[in-house]
Amino acid sequence: MAKLDGKVAVITGASSGIGEATAEALAAEGASVVVAARREDRLSDLVERINGKNGGKALSLECDVTDEEQAHALIRRAKDELGRVDVLVNNAGVMQLSKIEKGLSDEWRTMFDVNVLGLLYVTEAAVQVMKEQGSGHLINISSVAGRKSGPLRGAYAGTKFAVNAISEALRVELLEDNIRVTVVEPGAVETELPDHITDEEAKEGIKSIYGLDDILQPEDIANAIAYCVAQPERVSVNEILIRPTQQGN
Ligand code: NDP
Repeated sequence: MAKLDGKVAVITGASSGIGEATAEALAAEGASVVVAARREDRLSDLVERINGKNGGKALSLECDVTDEEQAHALIRRAKDELGRVDVLVNNAGVMQLSKIEKGLSDEWRTMFDVNVLGLLYVTEAAVQVMKEQGSGHLINISSVAGRKSGPLRGAYAGTKFAVNAISEALRVELLEDNIRVTVVEPGAVETELPDHITDEEAKEGIKSIYGLDDILQPEDIANAIAYCVAQPERVSVNEILIRPTQQGN
């Protein structure tokens, strides 16, 4: 029997990068996975890949997490289709770096909408289901930037500090409901995340980290998530910080 047999996991931002790798890792351990994002074509490929492997079970649901209705519908549909929601991986995220003096307020809004409000919308719906079940596990993807701010990452770090603050509140609010909360704080991972940066100074600025020889791969984070989820119910891994070995800050 695989470690996650019978569990249902919902993963936001599963159309690429860490979310996609997490869906594959949890499915490989026996979980049924609901993969959500806006790019349906990417989700369909992933579902096909997972369902093609021995016993894999995946379902895709299109969802823009910044739309509260869609965020709630995601959880409702996951529960309707698969009967429960044991794990929610709040992974959808955007990183658009720039100095605050540049005033790229549309990018600030996008980041707070996706990284903070989107997470809250999906979480609130999932918590209702988990409370009824008497168990659940919330995995919130923060960042090294959720622990350390600095030049160019003020607004992004603001969203990730918020993720950590929200996670700690949830952890204590949900103790008696047997709902575990884990914050995952990756350093540089090779994904599409930096591709959305528009500011030239920031594109240059991240090279000292994203340009390192051997940055993390999405499966490195997925493996850590799979570890947290597979622990016995008495074990709540509250926080995991993972940097590439060569990353300083
Ligand atoms: P990717 O850009 O590969 O993945 C981001 C995912 O978020 C995509 O699947 C995207 O899907 C989804 N997404 C973006 N906006 C929305 C939205 N409005 N509604 C639903 N989904 C959305 O980057 P990563 O895999 O790297 O990022 C995953 C998480 O990891 C993020 O929270 C990021 O902040 C965090 N992280 C990443 C690090 C890195 O170095 N890569 C380091 C630290 C943290 P779609 O566009 O199809 O909707």
